[in-house]
Parts: sequence; structure tokens; C-alpha cells
Amino acid sequence: MVGVSVLGISGSVGSSTVKVLRQFRDSFSLRSFSVHSNLDLAKSLIDEFSPEVISITDSKLEGTLGSKYKSTTILYGEDSLSDLVRLSSVSVVVTAVVGARGVRPTIAAIEAGKKIAIANKETLVTFGPLINRLVAKYSTLMVPVDSEHNALFQLIEREKRSNIRAITLTASGGSFRTLPIEELEHVSVKQALNHPTWSMGPKITVDSAGLINKGLEVIEAHFLFGFSYDEIEVVIHPQSLTHGIIETIDGACLQYTSHPDMIYPIAHSLFYPIPTPNMLIERKPSTWKTLEFFPPNLDRYPGLKLAYLAGRAGGAAPSIFNAANEEAVALFLEEKISFTAIPKLIESALNKISNAFPDDLEGYLEKDRKTRELIQKEFQRGGVTI
Ligand code: NDP
Ligand code: MG
Repeated sequence: MVGVSVLGISGSVGSSTVKVLRQFRDSFSLRSFSVHSNLDLAKSLIDEFSPEVISITDSKLEGTLGSKYKSTTILYGEDSLSDLVRLSSVSVVVTAVVGARGVRPTIAAIEAGKKIAIANKETLVTFGPLINRLVAKYSTLMVPVDSEHNALFQLIEREKRSNIRAITLTASGGSFRTLPIEELEHVSVKQALNHPTWSMGPKITVDSAGLINKGLEVIEAHFLFGFSYDEIEVVIHPQSLTHGIIETIDGACLQYTSHPDMIYPIAHSLFYPIPTPNMLIERKPSTWKTLEFFPPNLDRYPGLKLAYLAGRAGGAAPSIFNAANEEAVALFLEEKISFTAIPKLIESALNKISNAFPDDLEGYLEKDRKTRELIQKEFQRGGVTI
């Protein structure tokens, strides 16, 4: 029985993880989890799984469930995430909170020798070199949950690295793939949240609409697999059936294809290195009918171009890219800025904040904080917030 901790169990990835835990009750035991504010779900999951410890990270809710609920200890505040992952009964940590706040508990889990099933891409994008140093130091097993990276992880494992020429991440194209570009400025939050193929949390759904999610994923892939930015490609694939492709030096392309449902990569990352048992879902290739692939139009998706620029610039540029995006997307979701202002604010942050390489966690956090302040200032003075 493998002990599992799920950070952000009430979100989209968190809920899919619960589905997998229910399907494989004989293999996994949920020992700890966090919600930010979803108390009702927290209570029902305590009743169902009897974890040792849970955390409610929204500090406004301090004390609402007391310190003990049934036989489960209740912790409060973001700092308690690190306590959840350090439990001796926990072997694998699923990082499914949204945003760069995922970094501290991820570091705590690495230092405590846990296997990491990493969904929280912002941690790798923002703190990539630091996380990679720690992963090497503690010989951490880190398995990507992000569907494209999980697909690539499985493909790369089957092929010699020296035989791989390039890797490709697929992108659905998001909510506005076919909308005339001049209309993007006026799209609503509701329209942006209407993703054609995946059901996900609001932040990543907005990220996907502008292919900024794919930009984050390009940087995530760079840090996970060590490919240069010239070796990482993106294709639009509206069906979201193929998730990753590797091109080998003999000119072949090997692709990983599965139904767009996060339970597949989550189950793989939980079981790995043991092969996932029968998922009891039958999907016949004959039902897929069409698989289309075409290059992204960077006029439609300027955020993707900026992500490559930030990745290639290195240093703190990916951290600045991520923090600017997190702030801008939050403003868009609050209906304070337009959809097209998001990449403009990111570009402004990349131009204005020095990308000198931070030495340690505090250095990265400082860049992250400065960027967020800059975006708020730009917004207050109506700078690039068309
Ligand atoms: P959701 O928005 O659906 O869920 C976010 C989770 O984080 C919830 O449990 C939420 O709690 C919690 N949370 C929100 N705010 C805070 C906070 N301030 N402090 C601590 N916890 C907080 O996100 P997703 O599940 O869509 O995404 C999670 C991560 O996984 C992201 O990094 C995303 O990029 C990545 N990812 C997601 C995929 C998907 O299919 N959704 C696919 C690949 C990667 P509460 O519900 O109580 O507010
Ligand atoms: Mg993805």
C-alpha cells in the first residue's frame, strides 16, 4: 500500500486523482491532502479516506474545523503544505495546487525523499534550475503529470536519448482557435473558460486560450527533459488525442495517443515505475477518425513567442514570464483587463525586470514578487491594459 499526499485535492487535477485513488483502493492510501477553501469537500474526503492530516490553506478559514476532525489532524495556512508531504506514511506527493506557491512543499517533498508526481508546472517554470539541482542532489524520482510531458516521459524512456532529434508538444489551440484575431480583444471570461477538449481549472483554461499554457509547458519540458528550445516544438492538434511526439534521428515520429482524460497520466505517475494496471476503460483507435496537426500562428498566440524568448534568455526570465502571467490572468478573470492585455503585460515585465540568474530560492522569490508588483503598478496606471 503506497501512501499518497495530494496538494490541491479540490481542483481539477485533484479530483481526477481522487478518481484514480478510488479505482485502485488496494494499491494507494490517501494519507494527507490540502484544499484552499472547499470545506465541504474536505469533510467528505476525511469521511471517505480517513487521512492522518489535512490542510486548509486559506488563512481566513483558520480554526473553522478545529484542530481535529474525527481522527484527522487539521492544519491551516499555506506553510502547512510542507507538513503534509513530510509525513513518514507518505511515499508519493501529487502537486496539484495552482501557481508558483507549489514550490515550498515541492522542495520539502524532495528533501524528505518522496517521489513527486508533478502537476504544478509553475514550480518548474519559475524555479527550474533550483529544482533540478535538488532533484539531482536527492536522486528524486519526479514523474510529470501534465499530459504532454507524461506522454513524452513514456516515449523518451523507450528510446535512447542520442536517437531523439526533437520533441513535440501538442496544443488544442484553446477556446479561440478559429476566432478572427481582431475579435480577441473583446472576448469575455466566460468565452475563455469554454475549452473545446479539456475540463480544467480556470487559470490553466485561460492560459490555454492564448497558448501561454503551451509556452509554460515548453519551459517545463526544457527543465524536465533537458532538451534545448530549438529541439522543442509545438503543434496545434485540435482533437487532443495525441499528447506528445518524439522525432528520432532516422526520421520516424513516435506519438503517444490516448483519450484526453487526466486519469491516464495521473495513474501512470502514481504507479511508476510499476506499469499501470487495467484502467477498465476501452478506447478504440477506430473511434478517433481524424488526427490533424498544424503549426501555431504566432500572431494569434503572441504569448507562445514570449515563452520561447523567456526560455532562451534563461536566468530569471522564465520566473518573470510566469509571475507576470499569473497576475495578468488573475486580473483578466476579475474582468479588469482584456484578454489581449495578458501577453502585453508579460512582455512589459520581461523588458523591465532584469533577468540576472538568482542564486537561491529567496533570489527567485524576489524576482517573482517584483514582477507581481510591476504588473499591479502597470494595471493601476492603465499602462498596457487595453
Ligand atoms: P484548479 O484551479 O482546478 O485547482 C487548484 C487547486 O489549488 C485547488 O485545490 C484549490 O483549492 C487550490 N488553491 C487555490 N488557491 C490556492 C492557494 N492560494 N493556496 C493553496 N492552494 C490553493 O487547478 P487545476 O487542477 O486545473 O491545476 C492545478 C495545477 O496543475 C496547475 O499548476 C496546472 O497548471 C496544472 N495542470 C493542470 C491540468 C488540468 O487538467 N487541470 C493539466 C496539467 C497540469 P480550492 O478548490 O479549495 O480553492
Ligand atoms: Mg498540458
